[in-house]
Amino acid sequence: MKDFLFVSWDFSGRGGVKAALAMLRRCDLRHVARQRLDIPLDDDPDLTEEERGNPSPNVPWTTGCDGHVRLTTDDPRLARLLAELERLGIEPFTRVDRVYSKKDLEAPWLRIVGGSMMVGTGNVPGQKWDFSKACRECGAGAIPIAPLAVQGLDRMPKSGWCVTLGGFIVLEARLAAKLADAELTGFSVEPVRKHTSETAHDRYRWLRIPCKWPEPVERPGCRLHGRCEVCRRPQFIAGRDGLFSLHFERPPRDARDFNAWQGSVLPGKRAALATNRPTGDYPELVISQRAYSTLKEAKLRSLRCEPVFFD
Ligand SMILES: [Zn+2]
Repeated sequence: MKDFLFVSWDFSGRGGVKAALAMLRRCDLRHVARQRLDIPLDDDPDLTEEERGNPSPNVPWTTGCDGHVRLTTDDPRLARLLAELERLGIEPFTRVDRVYSKKDLEAPWLRIVGGSMMVGTGNVPGQKWDFSKACRECGAGAIPIAPLAVQGLDRMPKSGWCVTLGGFIVLEARLAAKLADAELTGFSVEPVRKHTSETAHDRYRWLRIPCKWPEPVERPGCRLHGRCEVCRRPQFIAGRDGLFSLHFERPPRDARDFNAWQGSVLPGKRAALATNRPTGDYPELVISQRAYSTLKEAKLRSLRCEPVFFD
């Protein structure tokens, strides 16, 4: 596991590219950081040809003076850079990226953090829901009634699968069959449809995963905020310093290969759905190492997972 800090800055009105490059030289980052150089050629006579870059002919007086760098958090140049930016009165944007090693990803349980997230589903027009076990306030626990209505099914990624914006896995029928053949547990294969059509799509399926995994526990990388007044589910999970990790007491006894946990709906989202009944927040998907290996073997490109942690 390695932590990186992504730092970006903008020198517009603060000396421009020349000042940015001078700062990078002082921090020994000139050839590490990316700095936009598309400035007017006659603006900075001290710049070398290489540093001038290629000014865009369409933007003769661009103010593009932004740049960025990504360094491991223990890199001594990082402190120098942040001190320089502060001295120059430039407030950088920072973000911590945690990168897990292959060894980390051999953990028994992982959460899916990325697939190609592109198509919309969930509260799309025409989706029918089973609210019989849902919280009356936030809607958590509502279950879409198959077929799952999906927006943008024509734009599915080439890899043949995605996690939709609503947190549901949609994949090609052949991939769903591979998971079933591997005798993985915790899902049923359900039909999907274009949200504009009533008939089930012949190529894609919905991997329906019931939300039975217990609630996360609070840890520095996992803070639960804003519980629903009725069902007490948290509305939001956040980490410290932009770092987020999912912590649980222990895996449940009846854990399957595919599991999901659902929180209460975010207040902003609830407002956005004012005309529809809320249906809870997007589920967190927790999978076993066996499921992870099978998904990797099936070459689900863009699959990104992180370990989940237990006490
Ligand atoms: Zn609730």
